[in-house]
Amino acid sequence: MLVVGNWKMNGNRVENVARLDCLAKGITENLNVQAVVCVPFPYLAQTEQALQATPVGVGVQDVSTQSKGAYTGEVSAAMAAEFGCRYAIVGHSERRAYQFELSDAIALKAKQAVVHGLIPIVCVGETLEERAAGRTADVVTTQVSEILDRLTVEEQEQLVFAYEPIWAIGTGKSASGKEAQEVHACIRALLRSRSSQLANTPLLYGGSVKAARASDIFGQADVDGALVGGASLDANEFIQICLNAGRARCARERTGPITRRAAWQSAP
Ligand code: PEP
Repeated sequence: MLVVGNWKMNGNRVENVARLDCLAKGITENLNVQAVVCVPFPYLAQTEQALQATPVGVGVQDVSTQSKGAYTGEVSAAMAAEFGCRYAIVGHSERRAYQFELSDAIALKAKQAVVHGLIPIVCVGETLEERAAGRTADVVTTQVSEILDRLTVEEQEQLVFAYEPIWAIGTGKSASGKEAQEVHACIRALLRSRSSQLANTPLLYGGSVKAARASDIFGQADVDGALVGGASLDANEFIQICLNAGRARCARERTGPITRRAAWQSAP
């Protein structure tokens, strides 16, 4: 299981010390989960230092479409990688909404991430109106296809997708495990139709995930982890979510081998 915290635009140098310290102490190898925190760029050095002796991975919430040059205000994947960063969220719905990011840019960002050794976590998800109109599967599979179509096969095989229904992000209204599984199964079917390698792509669920309801989500066959926003700001809550993910992984291993979606789990 892969559990990724997205701090969004939160934190400060003082507050971060306690949060990172709590994560460093609470997330150990035997949790059986790959935990990652995606922090604002200015806190990368602080995060790298606080977590370097721990199994917790470091990530960013965005990267530039470009590798370097006259792009004022941008941060490249190469720069993030210099701070021990291994993961990059791309195409988060907040960036799609407020920065008007479309598939062309999101795919370029994913490409940049791959080139610089980061694992892109590509976010997809439908609005409430789209769900109400019965268009969820169509919207989500179109978003996934648009990214895949813009990448090479080798790049595609580095991706993680996060299904994040927009109506569930930051609203306290999480999808049920069943609702998440239905969409994950559609994404999985699409990936499988492309290749057996892509069928192994890790699929995260995101949208108001909290420890109390995490087991329902992690118990689903096509859920390989979670992207956690608000709840990741509370380190103890985030650790509890990781604990639940670890337990779900153990249960799944008992019911059958996890050959797929497993390679990234051993990544530091
Ligand atoms: C997110 O930011 O990706 C997210 C899922 O947020 P939240 O958990 O707060 O809904």
